[in-house]
Amino acid sequence: MAKQGIIFDIKKYSLHDGPGIRTTVFLKGCPLACWWCHNPESQIEGPFAVTYPGHKQDFYTRAEDGQSKLGRTMTVPEVMAELEKDRLFYDESGGGVTFSGGEPLMQPEFLLALLAECREKDLHTCVDTTGYAGQEVIGEVMQYAGLFLYDLKLIDDDGHTKYTGVSNGPILDNLAFLAGRGAHVIIRIPIVPGITDSRDNLEGIAAFLKRTGGIREINLLPYNRFGSNKYRRLGRPDPMPATNPPTAEEMNRIAAFFTGQGFACRAGG
Ligand code: SF4
Repeated sequence: MAKQGIIFDIKKYSLHDGPGIRTTVFLKGCPLACWWCHNPESQIEGPFAVTYPGHKQDFYTRAEDGQSKLGRTMTVPEVMAELEKDRLFYDESGGGVTFSGGEPLMQPEFLLALLAECREKDLHTCVDTTGYAGQEVIGEVMQYAGLFLYDLKLIDDDGHTKYTGVSNGPILDNLAFLAGRGAHVIIRIPIVPGITDSRDNLEGIAAFLKRTGGIREINLLPYNRFGSNKYRRLGRPDPMPATNPPTAEEMNRIAAFFTGQGFACRAGG
């Protein structure tokens, strides 16, 4: 039987998930629960009952109880057929396919099968990841992924545990593993006012990356409030009801800090 997995969206013509024009495939399930998550519906592994006006009906499953549940089981050939439709855009823009989530490493066999198929079909691939997975999974994915978009949120482990629900130990270890083996990695830092934007955190991340070596590029992702309505629809409290996005000046200031530390840094994906 063809390998299959659970997907909660496929977004076409993406300009912020790696180089060129891309199709982003969102795999369901995430081991983290970041306070600033703007896709809280992605965290739960299987399909579950919720209706978001913004989601395409294609990604709802009709359950036995008659409810529509967000999240659809797709086989590798079904996903590949979707990806192939936009090959012309990838070829003309130097783009390709990005696997995101949730956390795509939560469905390792499905992800590996998709990556292998993309290589076979000569499609460039990015894996947008938290890095929170076993090193054997990271090692296997590294064999196929053209680029990792790798999230670094908080360098202090207590803070990381408080705001994401998990230790950053495996994340830092896996990043060092990838960098030490020459993988192409772009770091993505969510800039969340009052949480990730402190001087200590940013200096700590810069120091860690310099010690690790092999990483040149950093993208800064400004916190947004797109998730606040979703929490309401999920019946969960918004963890950060009073936090506003960072200003453009703040983003530029942080970008200038990392540039001054020798990294190629820009605000945005
Ligand atoms: S890692 Fe991403 S998808 Fe998972 S909880 Fe954090 S922000 Fe949400």
